Amino acid sequence: MDIGQSSHPRRKTRQIMVGDVPVGGDAPITVQSMTITKTADVEGTLQQTYDLALAGCDIVRCTCNEIEAAEGLARIVPRSPVPIVADIHHNHRMALAALEAGVHCLRLNPGNIRKPEHIKLVAQESKDRGVPIRIGVNGGSLHPDLYKRHGDKVTPEAMVESALMELAYFDEVGFDDVKISVKASSVPLMIEAYRQLSEAVDHPLHLGVTEAGPLPGGVIKATAGIATLLAEGIGDTIRYSLTADPIEEARAGRALLEAMGLRDRRNIDLIACPSCGRAEIDVIEVARKAQEAFGDQQIPLQVAVMGCVVNGPGEARDADLGIAAGNKKGHLFVRGQNVAVVPEADMVDALVEWATFINEHGVDAAFERAKSTRAHARREAERDRKALEGAHGADVNQSEQKVELIRKL
Ligand code: SF4
Repeated sequence: MDIGQSSHPRRKTRQIMVGDVPVGGDAPITVQSMTITKTADVEGTLQQTYDLALAGCDIVRCTCNEIEAAEGLARIVPRSPVPIVADIHHNHRMALAALEAGVHCLRLNPGNIRKPEHIKLVAQESKDRGVPIRIGVNGGSLHPDLYKRHGDKVTPEAMVESALMELAYFDEVGFDDVKISVKASSVPLMIEAYRQLSEAVDHPLHLGVTEAGPLPGGVIKATAGIATLLAEGIGDTIRYSLTADPIEEARAGRALLEAMGLRDRRNIDLIACPSCGRAEIDVIEVARKAQEAFGDQQIPLQVAVMGCVVNGPGEARDADLGIAAGNKKGHLFVRGQNVAVVPEADMVDALVEWATFINEHGVDAAFERAKSTRAHARREAERDRKALEGAHGADVNQSEQKVELIRKL
């Protein structure tokens, strides 16, 4: 097994196309989010769609809850940088209107559109137009009959049954261009529902913990559910449902896939030490400023902010680029090798400037650039490292002193 890869092979699913984005099969796992503008607000929705795409979103969903929203979709779809999914809840006519608007996929909630003739009509129309549907089961809006049949409880079995019932209606009109989700706000419930669903069907699965809530708890809950399943090889597309700016959903989704080695790095991977008694700067503040300065720039490098030059360059030697503080200076290093020294106040600017340079010209060019400064940088770092060690001693947290005191008790 390659370190950094999931221990379980990815479960085999059939592949569908959402616009020009493949979902399932051997396609990369995709990131989705949803706009929170009124879909009738064409310019506002398009702006948010562009922002989401920039933040790493592959597919964007917009609500289609009224006829004005469907009209908005007709204007949004041709100008969108990514495929658009129309979210349909109670009114099957909105699904037909969204298809007319040219959307790339529908999301139907089986708990909300219940009449078989309506479900089959939408499936037939989708089939005729070659548009896929996501069956989006939601633990909070299960069909009342199913809820009753499963002991007045939302169970994994009830959620899977809801998806299979919808699939059976689709089957009646020969439609199977489908992906499925069985989301719940309970992490253990959604994990079990997806596990059961993945045994029952080979359709691509869209993962999510619904109503995960605000940051940071929402990200933790969503990650717990989504990452657990991905590590088991389950899941073809993901969405973080956060009570936050949807840009955060896109960033979180992308960051998770990159962290799990399931997508290539696209943006900066900012690592930073947790800080300790040795820190020469406010690491939290400098890391925050660095994160803000890099924003969503597409620089696929790992960049480190380290609180001290004593341990920083060594601990972050695998990073492409890093900076460590010491004696009011910032010691810049590339792949663990000191390349330059900058004033402490310029640490973030220097980091962004060197990252941009490496992204454009490569690591070898960075070493070439540092030809005349490397020796000086190394000497300065060594001098500051020794000075700091002298000032703080090797045991900066006085652990050994405390151990001695404990032994004397
Ligand atoms: S890099 Fe320095 S400041 Fe940061 S945790 Fe390590 S020893 Fe502490």
